[in-house]
Amino acid sequence: MSVTVRFAPSPTGTLHIGGGRTALFNYYFAKHHGGKYLLRIEDTDRERSTPEAVDAIINGLAWLGVVADEPPVFQLQRIARHTEIAHELVKRGQAYYCYMTGEEIETERNTAESEGQIWHYDRRWRDYDPTLPPPRNVPPAIRIKAPLGDGMVAVDDAVKGRVELAFDQMDDFILLRADGTPTYMLAVVVDDHDMGISHIIRGNEHFVNAFRQNVIHLAMGWTPPVYAHVPLIHGEDGKKLSKRTGAASIEEYRDLGYLPEAMRNYLLRLGWSHGDEEIIDDGKAIELFTLEGIGKSPSQWDFQKLNFINHHYMKLRDNNELYELMKPFLQERYGDIWPDVKERLLKGFNGLKERSQTLIQLADNARFYVQFPLPMDDGAREKLAQPHATNVLQAALEIAPLFGTEEWDGKTILTAIQEQTGFKMGQVGPVLRAALTGTMQSPDLTELITALGADEFKKRLDMVR
Ligand code: GLU
Repeated sequence: MSVTVRFAPSPTGTLHIGGGRTALFNYYFAKHHGGKYLLRIEDTDRERSTPEAVDAIINGLAWLGVVADEPPVFQLQRIARHTEIAHELVKRGQAYYCYMTGEEIETERNTAESEGQIWHYDRRWRDYDPTLPPPRNVPPAIRIKAPLGDGMVAVDDAVKGRVELAFDQMDDFILLRADGTPTYMLAVVVDDHDMGISHIIRGNEHFVNAFRQNVIHLAMGWTPPVYAHVPLIHGEDGKKLSKRTGAASIEEYRDLGYLPEAMRNYLLRLGWSHGDEEIIDDGKAIELFTLEGIGKSPSQWDFQKLNFINHHYMKLRDNNELYELMKPFLQERYGDIWPDVKERLLKGFNGLKERSQTLIQLADNARFYVQFPLPMDDGAREKLAQPHATNVLQAALEIAPLFGTEEWDGKTILTAIQEQTGFKMGQVGPVLRAALTGTMQSPDLTELITALGADEFKKRLDMVR
């Protein structure tokens, strides 16, 4: 099977997560079949399309890692071709000039509505011979000759199966407006055909368009593509997706500290499945992605699952890379980062990663490695106010200078302090944790003493003694 697919966003806002998921499904499907994944920017709505939105889409896709195999196609640049096909359809007797003006439609529609009726175009110009001179001196629109009689238009949909619509449900819709601009319906079909699109994977909101689009394909003698209309995404509350319940642009998720590979895995699983497997990386997704795996009912946004997946991929990332990714979050929180912070932080990174599900949490949890003087929370202050705290700190400060940088190791230090004071770990640990991190929510003490190093250890104990 030869596969070419496309993601065809309208550049009217940001790249929404639903769009990101559509792009991703197309991408994995193409890669699974060794086919092509293309990007088409549907910018024919000149009032709503903006260059900023084009950038947001391209940047959002780049961040997500869903990059097209060819430069994007801009629909607006293809108007001449859309127009050509509209006229070609007239020549073939599959479409016709309609001389009804906008005002006439408006008037008739208002009359129908005032009588409680819905206005339908009555196909009055359908049989006017196009080789005759124009009957009226008005610019005509071009309308499709939708098939008449008892038949059905079929849409082959990989999610819904084959769905048919009776001819009498179809209207002679407009292909080219009287002002010469092609309609969305025409532009999509012509572009899909010219780009060699074999499969259309897109949001379910476009399902109703597929019948009309197939009528155009067939009128031109083209083979309609196979469709896969993907059910919607609902918010965490089961209702329409809203900002609070999961809706946001792809770039907002970057700013919330999610990794692109985690977003891909999460979005893939949102509406597509392979058994109950949650962790599916790119390699596996490309191996497994077929249209059969797309679910039939809407999926629900789930931050807990997203966090779980993100945590998984954070642990897999190389620490240096992860540090670079979290750096903007560190700077946002703590301002300039001293060069020695990185080294210290990398030593204690595994403990921090274990406790963090996003880069933001990682940056928050890293606070005690970065900030000085160290802010103390109430829990830490309480521990330091205990009667035996002074003894612990005193002993720690006496012991620290006995170990050089080379021999510095959390486990050794802790054992030595216990031996010197005769206190157990349960008494020593909390005091040191409070003094060294300013909070009781911090990673393994052994690891963090090692990571802080001798100088920083002494400096911090001196501050609270
Ligand atoms: N441009 C349409 C949209 O952004 C998509 C059209 C299509 O995929 O066929 O919703």
